[in-house]
Amino acid sequence: MRIAMIGTGYVGLVSGACFADFGHQVACVDKDAGKIDGLNAGVMPIWEPGLESLVKSNVERGRLTFTTDLPAAVRDAEAVFIAVGTPARRGDGHADLTYVFDAVRELAGVIAPGTVVVTKSTVPVGTGDEIEKILRDEGVAEVSVASNPEFLREGAAIADFKHPDRIVVGAADDRAQYILREIYRPLFLNRAPILITGRRTAELTKYAANAFLAVKISFINEIADLCEAVDADVQDVARGIGLDNRIGAKFLHAGPGYGGSCFPKDTLALLQTADQAGVEQRIVRTTVQVNDDRKAAMADRVAQAMGGDLSGKRIGVLGLAFKPNTDDMREAPSISLINGLIERGADVCAFDPVARHQAEQVLDGVEFGASAEEVAKDADALVIVTEWDEFRALDLDRIAASLRGKVLVDLRNVYDPAEAREAGLAYHGIGRGRTGGPA
Ligand code: NAD
Repeated sequence: MRIAMIGTGYVGLVSGACFADFGHQVACVDKDAGKIDGLNAGVMPIWEPGLESLVKSNVERGRLTFTTDLPAAVRDAEAVFIAVGTPARRGDGHADLTYVFDAVRELAGVIAPGTVVVTKSTVPVGTGDEIEKILRDEGVAEVSVASNPEFLREGAAIADFKHPDRIVVGAADDRAQYILREIYRPLFLNRAPILITGRRTAELTKYAANAFLAVKISFINEIADLCEAVDADVQDVARGIGLDNRIGAKFLHAGPGYGGSCFPKDTLALLQTADQAGVEQRIVRTTVQVNDDRKAAMADRVAQAMGGDLSGKRIGVLGLAFKPNTDDMREAPSISLINGLIERGADVCAFDPVARHQAEQVLDGVEFGASAEEVAKDADALVIVTEWDEFRALDLDRIAASLRGKVLVDLRNVYDPAEAREAGLAYHGIGRGRTGGPA
């Protein structure tokens, strides 16, 4: 199959490289010339495990190319995937579809009749209908628009793409179904389930999936608050409920609230869709509120662990990316936490294994350290915000020795409270009893 992938961000680049690895001929397009120049020179625009070697090997085989020339990339393609950003629109939270529609207008004058246009971007119900209308208005002879939402997770994106829990395809016409089946055929051999459904249903499925995961996280976060009040341990509660197959263990980690490029914007966009349809979605609405409040409350949590007053205190922060194994800082809980600490008069020194460059674009007034040890040195407290593997096995005795104040706020429950206390640290986890962790 000849494929054009419009947008070479976290989704487009991974999808394009994986499709090429399946044996397809893929042209990846981006309007950001810097990204394309970098990719043509072998420099990845994002940090994603395994991506560089996957890209390199497929470029060498001649199956993967990068260009800013959209017309050239889409002209001979049998399928054109749209994987551009759909951020929350400022003000109302609706998905901003400017990038999607701009790309559609650009490709309309060029694609051959019968080309299947596929939205991989997360787009609200009805966007496929809008795309179809634009294509018809632009005089495209045979219009075929499908939805193929993407479920990969940053940090495990390649494995997720190649071994998906499911593939969702929303397409009414036979040609679109045929082309998408051909494109994903290597995965069917591995028995990945495929759901072929209507386009609007596929579009909504993506939002429903993300909203449900967001609900799960907010649910366990509220249970964590209850655990603190009634002296129970949320880690064990999560395990106790997660082992029930009807519930499942994933997304039951209490923490500082969800962030990232998807859950916050997708829950807001779902609420916009619901408002437009005149249907209330109380559970999702409450989840958004619970999560916003939680992120905003994290700086106070640190202040409380330090006796209330943060002025002049030096606080070390471990982890900035919204989750481990990515450099993505979009809506990261670290941002509201750090801004809150600074507002309360603290000095912040932070370290993240890969996200420093991205963090520098969104954080002001933060000092950046080069290691966990450097951040801990002479700090009044150390806060674990992102659970990178390298923060899971810190030498707590050494950390305690280099900290000025012996406070460890573990927003990801990485450490055993008893072990931390043995090292001489005042330990404060999430949802681990009245005292921050069982004695
Ligand atoms: P991103 O911001 O990392 O990448 C988008 C890219 O599209 C950018 O490089 C931008 O320059 C490019 N672009 C925009 N308009 C263009 C145009 N007209 N022509 C060519 N290139 C153009 O975004 P992302 O994180 O990859 O997300 C893309 C979509 O996938 C979003 O809808 C998102 O919700 C969805 N999604 C993201 C994830 C994730 O984990 N990041 C997972 C599943 C789905």
